[in-house]
Amino acid sequence: MGGIAGVMLYEPDGSGMGISTMLGQPRAQQVAELADQVQEWAVEALCAAMRPAVWPECPLHPNAHPLAPVVRHGQAVWSCPRSGVTIALIGELAVTVAGVSGGGGCVEAEGGERGSARKRKRRAARD
Ligand SMILES: [Zn+2]
Repeated sequence: MGGIAGVMLYEPDGSGMGISTMLGQPRAQQVAELADQVQEWAVEALCAAMRPAVWPECPLHPNAHPLAPVVRHGQAVWSCPRSGVTIALIGELAVTVAGVSGGGGCVEAEGGERGSARKRKRRAARD
């Protein structure tokens, strides 16, 4: 097993960024790596949209810092970098944090369902 797997993320204005991960690594490591890159992209996109560029927002410390993607006990999770508390499995954050974070719609793009996230994105691109 070798090589790289990647996808492109597109903003509504059509600009895109590629993210990728090395194949052959533990899955949790791959997920955390991709989440890290998605986070980078999301923060820039939020910034460009003049929205608060903290994503995903730490539910324990609102308006303070974003969560950090880490591998813990073999699972890729979002963790609070200040307290070290595990907040949610990566991909399940939208469910866990719903109603806690006032982060807005962009947070949903994180959701576990790849297909629906992509559909949402495509819709956004047409607007
Ligand atoms: Zn925190």
